[in-house]
Amino acid sequence: MTVPASTTGPTEVPPVPGLPASQRAALVRAQNGPVEFVTDYPTPKLGYGEVIAKVLYTGVCQSDLHTKNGTAAGADGKNITNIKLPHIGGHEGVGRVIAVADGVKGNVKPGDLVGIRFISRICRRCEFCLAGQEQHCTGGMTNHLHHEDGAFQEYIALDGDNLTVLPDDIDPQTIGPVLCCGITAYKCVKSCQINPGEWMVIIGAAGGMGHLAVQYARVMGARVIAVDGGDAKRDFCLGLGASHYVDFTKVNPVAEVLRLTGVGAHSVVCTAGSPRAYAHAADMLRIGGILSCGGIPPGTPHLETSIGAIVIKGLRIVGCLVGSLKETMEAVELTRLGMVKPSIVVKPFDDLPKIYDALEHDGVMGRVVVKIAKDEQ
Ligand SMILES: [Zn+2]
Ligand SMILES: [Zn+2]
Repeated sequence: MTVPASTTGPTEVPPVPGLPASQRAALVRAQNGPVEFVTDYPTPKLGYGEVIAKVLYTGVCQSDLHTKNGTAAGADGKNITNIKLPHIGGHEGVGRVIAVADGVKGNVKPGDLVGIRFISRICRRCEFCLAGQEQHCTGGMTNHLHHEDGAFQEYIALDGDNLTVLPDDIDPQTIGPVLCCGITAYKCVKSCQINPGEWMVIIGAAGGMGHLAVQYARVMGARVIAVDGGDAKRDFCLGLGASHYVDFTKVNPVAEVLRLTGVGAHSVVCTAGSPRAYAHAADMLRIGGILSCGGIPPGTPHLETSIGAIVIKGLRIVGCLVGSLKETMEAVELTRLGMVKPSIVVKPFDDLPKIYDALEHDGVMGRVVVKIAKDEQ
């Protein structure tokens, strides 16, 4: 069989018409350094098998903040220090394709909407990729947080083999948060194997991940107990469909969940990135209950659940690192159908430092999305 030369591997790709040589980007030169806006950051080159997208909107994630601050922890509990510098965050982005190189499979064309997700490239050959768990790829996976520039820039190059092609009829402002905190929330809730009418506790229920977890839990038929702090979040959580709101600043949340449920909840989803939120989360569970962990606290905190409790109560503890592309598209579809609505506030790109500050100190209800492209709605 003769293979055409154009499909045998990387080839010279001509420059993209209309793509400027430099662009505006928000970069962090050193970990724990400030966010700096520059206008002379080089635009990415289009490589074989890639597309270039113009970035329209992107959500601001807690893990962007941890990476900027140098407090992001890896699976070994140690700080992740192997980070590309300057660091350009943003992995809840939506872009519009402006150029498609040779080697991109499928009917991808200029004008298509694409997602800019956490995972940027995968090997597609390791056992985890083959099992549809490519977010755990061990064959040289890269992401838009530690290895490649993310969506806090005007143009981005994306791997055509790991492309998130979005439906034409979604709202590009709203869908970004579904691609990181949303898919994590979806996976956390799905991992609880809930049956209609069963109790599910969502810790950090008013946050970016939490407010979507409440909605996925409702779609899957759970009775939701929302746990968060302060009166301002009560109406928000109840409005999302939670049956109860437990304010941890006023009551002991474990005692309150046990009081409401009698023998404990069927499942607990912890979306908060705080060690305190996790410490006693499993104590809210009934026999055979599932604790699903989504938020990643900085540092090396541990659950304070005794091994005896885990064994005697037959508890299960699962972790959810985003989800696969297939699961992401399931979550996108729920938003496209109007069944799950990300609560967003759109802010100018320039507000990024202020948004980080709010995430770090005050907490944010729902999600803040920044508008990157000036000339697109
Ligand atoms: Zn994220
Ligand atoms: Zn792999």
